[in-house]
Amino acid sequence: TTSEPERELTDGFHLLIDALKLNDLNTVYGVPGIPITDLGRMMQEEGMRVLSFRHEQNAGNAAAIAGFLTKKPGVCLTVSAPGFLNGLTALAHATTNCWPMILISGSSEREVVDLMQGDYEEMDQLAIAKPLCKAAYRVLHAEDIGIAVARAIRAAVSGRPGGVYLDIPGALLGQAMDAVEGAKSLVKVIDPAPAQFPAPAAVERALDVIKSAKKPLIILGKGAAYAQADEVVKDFVEKCGIPYLPMSMAKGLLPDNHPQSAGAARSLVLKESDVVIMVGARLNWLLSHGKGKSWGAPHSTRFVQIDIEPREMDSNVEIAAPLVGDIESCLSALTEGMGGDWKAPPQDWLDAVREKRDANVTRMAPTLQNNASPMNYAGALGALKRIIEKRPDAILVNEGANTLDFARSIIDMYKPRKRLDVGTWGVMGVGMGSAIAAAVETGLPVLAVEGDSAFGFSGMEIETICRYKLPVCIVVFNNNGIYRGTDTNRSGGEDPAPTVFVEDSRYDMMMQAFGGEGRHVTDPDALTRAVNEAMDSGKPTLINAVIDPAAGKESGNIGNLNPTSVVSKR
Ligand code: ADP
Ligand code: MG
Repeated sequence: TTSEPERELTDGFHLLIDALKLNDLNTVYGVPGIPITDLGRMMQEEGMRVLSFRHEQNAGNAAAIAGFLTKKPGVCLTVSAPGFLNGLTALAHATTNCWPMILISGSSEREVVDLMQGDYEEMDQLAIAKPLCKAAYRVLHAEDIGIAVARAIRAAVSGRPGGVYLDIPGALLGQAMDAVEGAKSLVKVIDPAPAQFPAPAAVERALDVIKSAKKPLIILGKGAAYAQADEVVKDFVEKCGIPYLPMSMAKGLLPDNHPQSAGAARSLVLKESDVVIMVGARLNWLLSHGKGKSWGAPHSTRFVQIDIEPREMDSNVEIAAPLVGDIESCLSALTEGMGGDWKAPPQDWLDAVREKRDANVTRMAPTLQNNASPMNYAGALGALKRIIEKRPDAILVNEGANTLDFARSIIDMYKPRKRLDVGTWGVMGVGMGSAIAAAVETGLPVLAVEGDSAFGFSGMEIETICRYKLPVCIVVFNNNGIYRGTDTNRSGGEDPAPTVFVEDSRYDMMMQAFGGEGRHVTDPDALTRAVNEAMDSGKPTLINAVIDPAAGKESGNIGNLNPTSVVSKR
């Protein structure tokens, strides 16, 4: 008897890898373990970049910000149950921020999970993921891996981007099939995020509203930064001549020193403007829901809103001119519709905005030169502001309470997608994940400005930064605690107050433990020298920057969100 020629086989491991690579997803952020340890090894073997973290939430936060930076889904790979749940926090964060991400988790076999027979790390992960992300899929057969990855990519990036969960039962990875059939089962997604053009009538309506304005304002949000339509945004803003306000992660889309920037006149423009053009920004808590005391008299502001998600319209207040479509198509249509004889906004409005802005900048300037030790926020951030001015290509990661709020207003940004922060939830703990992904995805130097509390959420990832030798300089604003380091135990007991940490901690020594550079500085000049040195060398560095423990305020700029007790003893 003659034996059949041996067929070549492939399996779930390789089909998943091939499907990701075929769609140009070549980087994975994750934590190894059962059942995906070998998958990570094989990914690396097959030429993918595999970044192993110390905790899944940080890997997930890296994938989330990779999605924001690249307009492609960031991929996070985790083990089952606990690893999955850790990654899920980041997937929900990505979804909330409208960033594309795919969380791939290993899971137990359906047969055991569904009968609740107590498998190793048993959990009905698909059901749990569903309400927390944009879409969730499970793959049971190797021949479906190609289509599942295609669906995941399309769901993540089309329309309003978001997080997608892909459930991979362990046994799937080992399933074998004919290699030729396997290759045919793969899908390269064509035009994953198709352009969405606004209706001509909607463009007309928007232009009519804008033309009627006496005090118009543009608000640029992180959706506009995400869209990577930088030239189109610039053309529109400059042609219409309207002052603009960048939301936190839209800073730098146009340089913060642009003549039309109203960043330093925020209170004035929100209160006074009569027409507001929202570009990839939501009227959520970050804009006081478009009403109330930050804004003008009730119903006095008319909104034009550009968003890819139709249901965003009228979320909080009436939208006079909804423009549903992608940023690039909508702004191109508006710019074209403005024609050649577009009239600039009334001069008295432009003068009022400029005067307010210049007055605020002038008032702030001397505080940024404060060279006192211990440092306060303005003194330390003034130093960092001058560094970013000289290094506009660097990526700034920023989290904390006071460290976030002061840095956002003090440090000017000059280029798009250079400021990565806590996003829509104002979540602490995204710092190291963001810093790692920023370095990996862009190859540019990263400056992470971190409150000591915020840093603690993901601090162990400094080992990851050292391991992959990433050009990340972390500055920990160390004021001995959350908000401040001066609180005392109100009961008089021995425990420290809930908001304070070990006094005079040396976070720089943690970095040294992993072979990175550690610096301890107590004044702005020393801070400047240490940051410049780190950014010149590209070596992983952590600078412990001592801040006056009394300098911060409760919850930074959002202390008003705290409930107050009617029976408080103080
Ligand atoms: P910010 O916090 O900066 O105000 P948000 O995250 O609240 O920004 O809003 C971003 C908005 O941008 C979301 O409503 C999202 O649907 C929208 N968006 C994202 N990408 C695009 C795009 N390519 N075109 C149009 N809108 C987009
Ligand atoms: Mg602190």
